[in-house]
Amino acid sequence: MEKPYIGRFAPTPTGKLHRGSLVAALASYCEAKKNNGQWLLRIEDLDPPREVKGASQSFIDTLTKLGFQLNQKAIYQSNKTRQHAYQKALNQLIQEGHTYYCSCSRSELKNTNIKDHKCRNKKSTPQKPYSINLKASDCIIKFKDRIQGNYIKNLLNDCGDCVLQRKDGLFSYQLAVVVDDSFQKVTDIVRGIDLIDSTPWQIYLNSLLNYPQPSYAHIPILVNKTGQKLSKQTFAKEIDTEKPLEILVNAYNLLLQNSFITTPKTLHEFWNKAISQWNINKLDNIQSIQV
Ligand SMILES: [Zn+2]
Repeated sequence: MEKPYIGRFAPTPTGKLHRGSLVAALASYCEAKKNNGQWLLRIEDLDPPREVKGASQSFIDTLTKLGFQLNQKAIYQSNKTRQHAYQKALNQLIQEGHTYYCSCSRSELKNTNIKDHKCRNKKSTPQKPYSINLKASDCIIKFKDRIQGNYIKNLLNDCGDCVLQRKDGLFSYQLAVVVDDSFQKVTDIVRGIDLIDSTPWQIYLNSLLNYPQPSYAHIPILVNKTGQKLSKQTFAKEIDTEKPLEILVNAYNLLLQNSFITTPKTLHEFWNKAISQWNINKLDNIQSIQV
């Protein structure tokens, strides 16, 4: 029997869908469908103060207008059930001794070498507000990225510790993402290379929590002429759903898939051709694409 493939797209609702996020959605979708897999959507709304009102619904509406089909209803990280799941995973990590409390300020942390960070060895709960951090162990984390090749880091020296729960009580991206990928039974992660440096922590957390390890493919990010990543911060334009076909063909070509011999005339035709021609290896070893 063929191994089931479950892929996902997991945007943060801090702005509307733009070309940079569309290529990530498109790559993960084509790869999932090429493998007869499922494709799931997860809204990573962990940080309400940074959220843009209406952005989550706008993602769903835009993807629907472009013809993306979800295999399950979208899940939201702000959902109570999900929050309980993050707390449960965090409790396990605390009980098993993989965490510590840190009440240092940003500037204190900036000037502290990880090996001199005193909070790492304290057992008591600080009197001041504190974050709960993952205590990185001195171990080698390696994986073979399907696009970027072999990736190897010493977790302690190259990556350091990471926050699991912030001082304000919000759960961190690193914790939530592994809990949710396991919950949604994601087998294959296709996402932007800007997240590759988070992968060692996620692999480590997966192993501590006894979750299966998904496979990873980090696609190049889109950059502007000055080399900055297209994002809300660099004023990337919102997707214009009035011209869905044009937008999709453009995004597909940005992913270095040789264009279509005859341009698709309908969304249905686009998706059939896009999926059957899709070859993720055309992106091998490429880290950025200028638009
Ligand atoms: Zn500290």
